[in-house]
Amino acid sequence: MTELLFRGATVYTPDGPGEFDVTVSDGVITSVGPRGSGRGKAVDVSGNWLLPGGIDVHVHSRDPGFPDKEDFGTLTAAAAAGGVTTVVDMPNTVPAVDSAGALESKAALARSRSRVDFGLWALIRSSSTAEQLVELASAGAVGFKAYLGYSFSVSRKQVLHALGASDPDLEAPPDYGTLTRLAPAIAELGLPLVIHAEDPGILHAFRRPFETYEDVLEARPAEAESVAISATASVARQHDIHLHIAHVSSALGLQAAEEAIAAGTRLTLETCPQYLWRTEADFARLGTAMKMNPPVRRASDQQALRDALRREVISVVATDHAPHTDDEKAQDLEHAPPGTPGVQTLYLSCLELARHMGDPWLAARWVSEGPAALAGLSESKGRIAPGYDADLVVVDPKQSTTFSPKAMRSRQKHGALEGLKVSFAITSVYLRGVPIYANGRLSTRSTGRMVRPAGIPIA
Ligand SMILES: [Zn+2]
Repeated sequence: MTELLFRGATVYTPDGPGEFDVTVSDGVITSVGPRGSGRGKAVDVSGNWLLPGGIDVHVHSRDPGFPDKEDFGTLTAAAAAGGVTTVVDMPNTVPAVDSAGALESKAALARSRSRVDFGLWALIRSSSTAEQLVELASAGAVGFKAYLGYSFSVSRKQVLHALGASDPDLEAPPDYGTLTRLAPAIAELGLPLVIHAEDPGILHAFRRPFETYEDVLEARPAEAESVAISATASVARQHDIHLHIAHVSSALGLQAAEEAIAAGTRLTLETCPQYLWRTEADFARLGTAMKMNPPVRRASDQQALRDALRREVISVVATDHAPHTDDEKAQDLEHAPPGTPGVQTLYLSCLELARHMGDPWLAARWVSEGPAALAGLSESKGRIAPGYDADLVVVDPKQSTTFSPKAMRSRQKHGALEGLKVSFAITSVYLRGVPIYANGRLSTRSTGRMVRPAGIPIA
């Protein structure tokens, strides 16, 4: 049994920060007590902060499917360097995770390469059946994701960023009918339903070529978000489903969500650092690194999102880490694919934002505690407390970091937060008590395990 003693740090606990010793045995936190009370092999983290490992519930590993964009190795190298000790991967890899078999294959692949723990979301297609959802849950899915308005190539088993056409290979996107049909099964399973909330009817009405960033904003109006949130919330409320809205980007979307919460919907909200840190004005400098769906909008939207975090209406900050190759992103606005890497900069960008708001420790709630609750991991991750996994991030509050392409471990080097300077640095990261990153270097061994939500029987 290896006993470790982290001493000298200011530790963020569920009751707030304090000066504590933290002991770890066999990868699990065994005590959080007064200075001098712990025993074990000392890890001196004096002058630093000790935070619970980040949990990024919205990443796109591109694995399997697009190894030139990313794979579980590069994704989790970036995660480890950024203090993210658990990633939850979206199901639009290729083949898509629409069956228990596809989930199990992807889990095996991720296990072989992952430097951090990982969970897997399962895909809802318009053709999905209740039986398939039950099997996906038994195989370990963290929950279900529906991309409203994204059709599905049956031959390639791929979710497409397209509304669909008359092509017989394309299966229609899941719609409100699909969700209503599957709602009883989702409710029975008790897993969250995650929505990419952009209403396809509204997107269709505003289609246009992209010449300027204003075209992007006009093509994906905030009404697309608010209508999708209101409609799915109505279904979720009727069936008492936990509905989670991915990447909320607009004040109007927030308003729809708050109305749904007030009406009794079990609704959680996620936003991303790019919506909290960037506005349309940044496009001139960042270019297509800032092209994503939904888009980064106006300063008033950014303000509303920050305010919702402060009011704890938004409980999760995740990244929608969606890398492409830098060559693909170097195309013009019309042709560059949507998405930005983000997992490596999640924790630090949130610490900086929380510092601006007057309480940097809030970041641990947004990137660890809130996400753990969403993913069904509240009993094992997201807190520095006895019985929890020793997923620990050591942060130096006296060093600063500027996000630069050369430090990025994802395949795509240029991201939407490029150039942001934060008043913190991550010095080391531990996954279940094992050091996976220290002073700019990753450990050589991949030690990630699959996480599954508590309370779901294993098949
Ligand atoms: Zn996404």
